[in-house]
Amino acid sequence: MKKISLLLMLSCVLSLQAQLRNNDVYEVTEMEQSRVRREIRIPNVDGYKVLKCDFHTHTVFSDGKVWPDTRVMEAWQEGLDAVAITDHIEYLPHKEIIKADLNESYKIAKKAADASGFIVIKGTEITRSKPLGHLNALFINDVMPMDVEDPLKAIDEAVRQGAFIMWNHPGWPDDKSTFYPVHEELIKAGKIHGLEVFNHMEYYPACFDWAMEHNLAFMANTDSHDPISNNYGRENQMRPMTLVLAKERSEASIKEALFAKRTMAFFNGELAGKPEHLKGLLKASLKIRVINEKLVEVTNISDITYQATGGKKLYIFPAGKTISFSVPAFDTVFTVENCHTGTGQKLTVTASDFDF
Ligand SMILES: [Zn+2]
Ligand SMILES: [Zn+2]
Repeated sequence: MKKISLLLMLSCVLSLQAQLRNNDVYEVTEMEQSRVRREIRIPNVDGYKVLKCDFHTHTVFSDGKVWPDTRVMEAWQEGLDAVAITDHIEYLPHKEIIKADLNESYKIAKKAADASGFIVIKGTEITRSKPLGHLNALFINDVMPMDVEDPLKAIDEAVRQGAFIMWNHPGWPDDKSTFYPVHEELIKAGKIHGLEVFNHMEYYPACFDWAMEHNLAFMANTDSHDPISNNYGRENQMRPMTLVLAKERSEASIKEALFAKRTMAFFNGELAGKPEHLKGLLKASLKIRVINEKLVEVTNISDITYQATGGKKLYIFPAGKTISFSVPAFDTVFTVENCHTGTGQKLTVTASDFDF
């Protein structure tokens, strides 16, 4: 009898947690892994939200291997705030099987994004060999009029639609980052606004200086063709992303911030951007507590680990942890080793940059 009532009790408890479907089939849990999102903790910087965005992905509608709604689901699960669908215009290896117009991949992704409260940005990749190379046009309305032979006419059409235009992977495919006259002309004409200093698994140190000299937005993106987990692992590894200092979490705010060049590239633990943005991020991330004249504690409230050298010592500030160390001289200049502000240049700070 006791046994039976215990079983009854157990089944009542289970039925609260589990979803009973019928006498033949029980669902063991309501917690589907696809509905679990990791949070990437990055504090606000100078009053701006730091949005985590990937502005370069492909789907089966060009040469990618995933359906567009998977791009949205992956990005949501990984803790991103927005993803752009940027299928090629000119390179469509599946076009005999998938007969659709060039706007279709975004439409499918947008439906999935709207259902889950996520931001998906409509884009496309204008794809030519060097010298022009590849350019992403973001925040466009209609890809079809960009399907023209002359790439400069495609760029003009993107500009006409109000696009933010990004120069993709300048060091690919020949391992040479070459700044050609066509790029200079396009930048001068206000037709290139951002530069992908990191793409997929590679980065282009020469481009850090170009982004500074020409006031281009620093960007890091995946250019994913495969499922994301194939490239960056299933746990704990963050994909490359562009950190956007936005007034609010919305597509309009992301667009405003990109044109204002308030971005940082974040890839493989490294950051690249303008010194004021990197310094703002560092200050927001590291909280200093002076214990006494000999000891100081620094708490890193972000998910980004920082490394700095000062007074011939290396200091590591692990993500989400506090370290305590002996107080260095107040005027010690620290070089933040993973914050790149130019080609061969890194962010420098002193204690007076911080509030404590
Ligand atoms: Zn490309
Ligand atoms: Zn691409």
